[in-house]
Amino acid sequence: MVTKADILIAGAGAAGLTAGVALARAGFSVAVRGEPDTRRNGRTVALFEASLRLYRALGLLDRLAPLAMPIETIRIIDDTGSSLPTPPLELHAEEIGLDAFGANIENAALVGALAEIARETPGLSLENGLLGDYAFGAENVRARTNGGEDIEARLVVGADGRNSPLRAAAGIKFREWSYPQVALTALLSHTRTHWRASTEFHTRQGPCTFVPLPPEGDHRHRSSLVWLMTADEAKRRMALPDAELAAEIETQVHRLHGGVAMEGPRAAFPMSGLKCERLVAPRVALVADAAHYFPPIGAQGLNLGLRDVAQLAESLGAGGRDDAGREDALRDYDRARRLDVGTRSFGVDILNRSLLWDFPPVDFARGAGILAMTAIGPLRRALLREGVAPPGRLPPLMRKPARAR
Ligand SMILES: Cc1cc2nc3c(=O)[nH]c(=O)nc-3n(C[C@H](O)[C@H](O)[C@H](O)COP(=O)(O)OP(=O)(O)OC[C@H]3O[C@@H](n4cnc5c(N)ncnc54)[C@H](O)[C@@H]3O)c2cc1C
Repeated sequence: MVTKADILIAGAGAAGLTAGVALARAGFSVAVRGEPDTRRNGRTVALFEASLRLYRALGLLDRLAPLAMPIETIRIIDDTGSSLPTPPLELHAEEIGLDAFGANIENAALVGALAEIARETPGLSLENGLLGDYAFGAENVRARTNGGEDIEARLVVGADGRNSPLRAAAGIKFREWSYPQVALTALLSHTRTHWRASTEFHTRQGPCTFVPLPPEGDHRHRSSLVWLMTADEAKRRMALPDAELAAEIETQVHRLHGGVAMEGPRAAFPMSGLKCERLVAPRVALVADAAHYFPPIGAQGLNLGLRDVAQLAESLGAGGRDDAGREDALRDYDRARRLDVGTRSFGVDILNRSLLWDFPPVDFARGAGILAMTAIGPLRRALLREGVAPPGRLPPLMRKPARAR
């Protein structure tokens, strides 16, 4: 027997599940296949205003908000030891008329809640199974799960992560590169408050960031850690006992959060970047990490991926319900996402490399940028809006504020 749907989604991570709900709400029959991973792994995502707007428009924000901690302030502290140090920069959401820039949520909690919501969504079937054996025809696409289920759809959406098997099967060309860095991640509790602030220490090995988390049990003050360092340092620190690693973290952040204790597992992610030539092929569209990937600086990755999802819902909806994989709808999606994906990937790459280069002119340029942001209010506000909800080019699902003030 063959399962039939308008749209098959490969991947049940945050992007695939969100795409499933958005496309089912847009009137398509949707099959999501993958393996929702709800194991707590020391990783969180900061979701900014535009992403919260999407969840609000889909009616999911009330379910997700209690699991997340609002981020009201972003602090950037120059800890590069540069001969041209810049003063700390503090950015407040109220400057751009928001209560918060966004909210930080554990990956496992986000995926768990989205999977639960997906299972309740009419028109959407979510089953375990990894997809392969793709066969692309003129009118539809077929695939088989590792459990032996055959599925036929008018369109297959690749939300199957950075090593996307669908991207390979569809022959979409991409460029991949690596950085001499590894991100060490963990959840922490600490003795002082985080003041609902995300604090980035910019070091010569990359940023070390504390992002606020909601209280849990006896732990009132909690944050997630994303700390970029060399591969050797990451290997050494991954092997340290909890108390020794906690002591190194305290030193790295100048005890700003007081005493630190590790909560649960830590993880290490080698840093790389990936950019596709196109986000579409006949009967195929890619979203999120399957389509683009870069280091977790400025928390842009999934936020960019959710903008793909919102645009895909818009482009496919406008193309009509009779054929979800229409060429003109896919072309519209690809065109609409090009600029945002290109500028975001470039911006993160430049910022990351500027930290790694110990070269005075580069330090000067970065320092001048931070000083300009401190001194020039309109520039600061424009960059803040660009970071959390880029004005002018957001798809309709992201246009209404997540929360009225
Ligand atoms: C350390 C770190 C911190 C980050 N912090 C932030 C942040 O604060 N804010 C932010 O916006 N982004 C952040 N990101 C980026 C963000 O985590 C990713 O962009 C996001 O998780 C990507 O989601 P995804 O659903 O595209 O991919 P994934 O989460 O990788 O999910 C892909 C899914 O596809 C499945 N899959 C693979 N192959 C198949 C197949 N053949 N068939 C079916 N399913 C398949 C996988 O099992 C997986 O479940 C961070 C990333 C890192 C590494």
